Amino acid sequence: MSSIFSKIARGEIPSYKIAESDKFYAFLDINPMSEGHTLVIPKEETDYIFDLGETDFSGLFLFAKKVAEGIKSAVPCTRVGIAVIGLEVPHAHIHLIPINKESDMDFRKPKLKLQKEEMEAIAARISSQIKL
Ligand code: AMP
Repeated sequence: MSSIFSKIARGEIPSYKIAESDKFYAFLDINPMSEGHTLVIPKEETDYIFDLGETDFSGLFLFAKKVAEGIKSAVPCTRVGIAVIGLEVPHAHIHLIPINKESDMDFRKPKLKLQKEEMEAIAARISSQIKL
């Protein structure tokens, strides 16, 4: 069975798309820790990020770097934090999170509740700043 993220990458489930290449896809986390919280995935399904082959692993991080640069331009923040958890969705993904202080990376914090229109506007803003 396909993971929810495979379905997102194939466009079978909607997402707030940020960017895509032939192998990778970036979209907003539906339960954001902060405005602009983005997930970056390989389109091909692998559960555990360290099981990716070397080319896909390095390609994913290079793609994430370009996405993070776009986030930094579009969202006021001190840094874009990076995290890999993967306990909820069994499809490798990198979290890119705009942060201003250490506690902004605390996954136990209550998540933001943003309206569809706000998510669309954030995605469009970030997307317009990304140069692949
Ligand atoms: P984890 O696997 O622990 O890294 O967490 C999975 C992340 O995926 C969580 O931050 C969820 O909010 C996020 N998530 C789950 N389903 C979706 C979805 N359909 N669209 C966007 N983000 C999602």
